[in-house]
Amino acid sequence: MSQADFIWFNGKTVPWQDAQVHVLSHALHYGSSVFEGIRAYHTPKGPAVFRLKEHIQRLFDSAKIYRMPIPYSAEQIEQACRDTIVDNGLDSAYIRPLAFYGHVGLGLNVPQGSQAEVIVASFPWNAYLGEESTQQGVDVCISSWNRLAANTMPTAAKAGGNYLSSQLISGEAKRHGYAEGIALDVNGQISEGAGENLFVVKNGVLITPPVTAAILPGITRDTIITLAREAGYEVKEEAIAREALYLADEIFMTGTAAEIVPVRSVDGIQVGAGNRGPITADLQAAFFGLFSGVTEDKWGWLDYVSDD
Ligand code: PMP
Repeated sequence: MSQADFIWFNGKTVPWQDAQVHVLSHALHYGSSVFEGIRAYHTPKGPAVFRLKEHIQRLFDSAKIYRMPIPYSAEQIEQACRDTIVDNGLDSAYIRPLAFYGHVGLGLNVPQGSQAEVIVASFPWNAYLGEESTQQGVDVCISSWNRLAANTMPTAAKAGGNYLSSQLISGEAKRHGYAEGIALDVNGQISEGAGENLFVVKNGVLITPPVTAAILPGITRDTIITLAREAGYEVKEEAIAREALYLADEIFMTGTAAEIVPVRSVDGIQVGAGNRGPITADLQAAFFGLFSGVTEDKWGWLDYVSDD
């Protein structure tokens, strides 16, 4: 990750080195933060933020689950996202809005009337699982760590604390030489990767775990479901058994940071032909075509940073 010059911090644009918090910040001790990961892409009409409204809606949904008041409107945070692109002179970027409890005392429950602090940072960030991952595919394993049980921490909230689980899953996978770990839910069915949703292709049909499988309802997942149906593929949201990964024709993972990544093996077992499958390639082309203009943006997903 490279450094940006300016960060939006509680309503003001400040130089990178001035965006600081106190060591007794609540979020640092208890994980009390909610955040988003958004991408802005280079397009022929200048940089455009992808599905900005849906990401900021999810930020507010995550905050609502934790009863965390955000003292800015969705429109203000959306504008902050666009502003950080312009302020840092970026053409494409990863955008990180974060709402967190700062210096509100160290009681587990924050005092009545406490409000979240909010930052938005934008910086260049290449494909999360490596530049070649999009074409070559990656090797993944099933993690020995399960995803969170539904009655422990809500996985629909993109909350800082949840990412300790993701760190265990991806850290274990990397130590064993895999690019990513896929977690099972507590019922033993496939859930998702440490930071990506998962799709299986079998006999031309796409299958992805339902939201009840302890997944984060990914915006890239929703994008792929929409693009796949538009292209005439059948898409099912249903439980996936571990062994269905070994027998899949194709597997790919989706996420804002990772984008669309083919999976070429699971637990050392080759998936399909062991390289990017044709349906994966087709959907990648539809996805990246949104930014080059080859795929028509029928859904108004591109939010242009400037109107001119
Ligand atoms: N699952 C988890 C745990 C994630 O962190 C992410 C990345 N935000 C995703 C799925 C994919 O979500 P999205 O497509 O909205 O980035």
